[in-house]
Amino acid sequence: MIDFSLSPQQQIVREVAHQIAQTVLRPGSLQWDQQHRIPDEVLLQLSMLRGGFTQGEVPEEVGGEGEGVGAVPDRRHRSQANRIAVLGAEELAWGDASVLLSLPGPGLGGPPVRSMGTPEQRRRFFSVFQQPGLHYGAYALTEPGAGSDVAGIQTRCRKQGRYYLLSGRKCYITNGARADWVVVFATVDPALGRAGHRAFVVERGTPGFSVGKIERKMGLRASETAELIFEEARVPEENLLGGEEYYRGKEGFVGAMQTFDSTRPMVAAVGLGIARAAWEAARDFVRDHYLLSRPLPRYAQLAAQLAQDRRLLDAARLLCWRAAWMADEGLPNSKEASMAKAYAARVALRICAHAVDILGAHGLQTSQLVEKWYRDIKVFDIFEGTGQIQRIVISRRILREPPSF
Ligand SMILES: Cc1cc2nc3c(=O)[nH]c(=O)nc-3n(C[C@H](O)[C@H](O)[C@H](O)COP(=O)(O)OP(=O)(O)OC[C@H]3O[C@@H](n4cnc5c(N)ncnc54)[C@H](O)[C@@H]3O)c2cc1C
Repeated sequence: MIDFSLSPQQQIVREVAHQIAQTVLRPGSLQWDQQHRIPDEVLLQLSMLRGGFTQGEVPEEVGGEGEGVGAVPDRRHRSQANRIAVLGAEELAWGDASVLLSLPGPGLGGPPVRSMGTPEQRRRFFSVFQQPGLHYGAYALTEPGAGSDVAGIQTRCRKQGRYYLLSGRKCYITNGARADWVVVFATVDPALGRAGHRAFVVERGTPGFSVGKIERKMGLRASETAELIFEEARVPEENLLGGEEYYRGKEGFVGAMQTFDSTRPMVAAVGLGIARAAWEAARDFVRDHYLLSRPLPRYAQLAAQLAQDRRLLDAARLLCWRAAWMADEGLPNSKEASMAKAYAARVALRICAHAVDILGAHGLQTSQLVEKWYRDIKVFDIFEGTGQIQRIVISRRILREPPSF
């Protein structure tokens, strides 16, 4: 049986994350959204969180416990990293989701380095986060012609002496411009499909690697989303994740996809944090404006809406926790991770829209967080795999599964 009672450590993470969300993130949220940036002082102040809540950042090679989102599961050593990640992510996103995405640390680049990297690579690339200051990793898979169709990436890599030369363009990369290093997926030959994929860690300053435009977005405006350009970028061969050997037995594409099994529940939890914030705002509004002063029929409709949305929110959280628990247990969780992501993104979008409805014109004011949450939430059904793609992943798995009772 699955037991979701929180361990003392999980309880502490939840409480501390909530405290930070309430006292630091909420008060600055609207202003940072309007300025399309989060002040470095705030990020430095938060850098003590550095993955601790959301990524389980420190692998064994750099003195940590080896736990972490994307770490190769080990059934003898039960991990809590994925459950801690979803608990921390929900609370911090309740405060401000852009800040959560901008927290210093390896970000979405962490899981592939953990799961595909050699011990030497893990040591080299994670040690940067031990240094003072703001340090970031990033994950670059998406291209102008390959978003959902990740198997169709066109960024090329070819070996030249002790280097790989990378040529192509990546787009919509979270923290791409500020990253110390980026995990970049490229292909030796597009005709080989998934078997041709390779993953590299490309470090800032690599000759031939530059940052293009920074996107202006509808939501999550304070989170940096960048275009990356590779013009025969010279990447040392020792930055090929896992080394040549890794790609003989496996496919680079599998590595890229496995990353999502650990990050999708966390991204789902971020969406839930925003939705919970919107739901609470709607509840408080109903309480303050209707409960005592309006005729019952109108209030009853709104109360029923709140009840229904709360049910959806709780159901989405349970899917999310199940997927995270399975990852911690070392159980294959692709289907469950996609279920959590697909359901949470949909539910969260709906709850944020209902919150705007319930607040009426008040909810459309740009001075109101509800308006911001409504803009922020849309992307959750797009990044880390769109809703349609999650449903394809789920349906493929359930059609392949043996019959069960
Ligand atoms: C804020 C933000 C941050 C991001 N951060 C990163 C990042 O850090 N790293 C990174 O690599 N990428 C990142 N992305 C990119 C994101 O992962 C892609 O946008 C996403 O995968 C969708 O790809 P696309 O935008 O090209 O849409 P498309 O793939 O072109 O899809 C367009 C529409 O077609 C549908 N569709 C596509 N194929 C199918 C199909 N086979 N069946 C049914 N429907 C289909 C989609 O569901 C969607 O509705 C980010 C995006 C945003 C907006």
